[in-house]
Amino acid sequence: MENILIVEDSMSVSNALKVIIDEDLGYNGVIAHSKKEASEKLLEYRGKFAVALLDLGLPDAPNGEVVDFVVKFNIPSIVLTGSTLKDDEKTFRNKHIVDYVIKESGFAIDYTLSLVKRIVSNREKKVLIVDDSKVFLEQAKMLLDRYQLKVFSAEDGVEALEIIKDHPDIKIVFTDYNMPNMDGLELTKNLRKKYRKDEMAIIIMTAMNSDTKQISAKFLKYGANDYIYKGFSDEEFYARLNSSLEILELFEQTRDKANKDYMTGMFNRRYLYDAGQEMYTRIKVREDDSLAAAIIDIDKFKNINDTWGHDIGDIAIKEVVVILSKLAGDNSLLARLGGEEFCILLRGRTEEEVKDLVEKIREAFEKNIIKTAKCEFGYTVSIGATFDMGDTLEDMINKADKALYNAKENGRNQVCYYED
Ligand code: GH3
Ligand code: MG
Ligand code: MG
Repeated sequence: MENILIVEDSMSVSNALKVIIDEDLGYNGVIAHSKKEASEKLLEYRGKFAVALLDLGLPDAPNGEVVDFVVKFNIPSIVLTGSTLKDDEKTFRNKHIVDYVIKESGFAIDYTLSLVKRIVSNREKKVLIVDDSKVFLEQAKMLLDRYQLKVFSAEDGVEALEIIKDHPDIKIVFTDYNMPNMDGLELTKNLRKKYRKDEMAIIIMTAMNSDTKQISAKFLKYGANDYIYKGFSDEEFYARLNSSLEILELFEQTRDKANKDYMTGMFNRRYLYDAGQEMYTRIKVREDDSLAAAIIDIDKFKNINDTWGHDIGDIAIKEVVVILSKLAGDNSLLARLGGEEFCILLRGRTEEEVKDLVEKIREAFEKNIIKTAKCEFGYTVSIGATFDMGDTLEDMINKADKALYNAKENGRNQVCYYED
């Protein structure tokens, strides 16, 4: 659970912020009405706040003193100000302040929420900055750090490609044009062979001169998403960054809608066959790796629905995600096949390791008790698994399904392996 510190003396503003932070974002808003209360909360939470919202005018800190104080804890902070921005307030820019929100403006709350959400989600996101000027790299890195992104830097296109090879999940690349070894245009061409525009955003940073227009047009043609002129202000940089992050997220949401099960957020059958196919073929061809498939089905699930109702049945299904994602580990692909049936593909494990893991999964369900306001209950699962890859992925999953049938026939709450 993310804790968000709200330092604001107005009860109505602080309460309104807390309500939406708790309810819309599902985080935990922690209110302090003064600098003194803020210091108490920082102590109580041991400085573990994902973001802080800071009012500049507090009864015991009328001139924004709270900012200096909170920033010392390395908490990215959003400043809440009155309608006008004084020049001396702008100096806060240098102090880990991510942004300002003008409280009186109609968008203030929406904007604040989207910023909080952005900063929390940024912690998982990787950005690469490519420029042959060390000074520039440092500056850009500082801006990106403040935004909580994971920042990588490279001094030319060749180095950039190396870094991306190790971190293929880099989402945004800011690149200079003129660089030794490989320039920004070559880098863009290279990256576009592998990553589509909706998978990785490339933003070109160019100096403003007479060729600029031509250069930016060329870049866009070769697949850059956007460009920004050097000498940009912090605001401009963040605005470009935000718009790219937003677009990537929209694409991701669309992909998720197609690939994920709405109720559990787990991959669906379709994705399992798409992504699993790649894994399956690679292992089948190379024969230097192993693959196992297991199908997990809740025992007597109909009873849960019949006894407690469908809403509790849904909770039971969501619990499967919690248990499986905790135990499955890397090199596994989890999916909800439908109803109360789940599949897991396990790569690169010995038969013994697979057997241990599958048994652990069965046991975890057996021991688990779900507590809701309405009832307390538990359930078991039956598991069918196979090491036999068959002729196709579908064939392999069918073999696991046959084993599952045996597990059910033999009395449930057990694991069966496929045998010819
Ligand atoms: P078995 O031990 O043989 O697997 O018995 P079972 O009752 O678990 O299996 P069965 O296939 O007979 O029943 C599955 C039930 O799951 C039927 C269906 O109404 C219910 N179901 C499927 N999807 C959902 C869902 O998303 N939510 C809820 N609450 N129920 C669901
Ligand atoms: Mg069942
Ligand atoms: Mg079933």
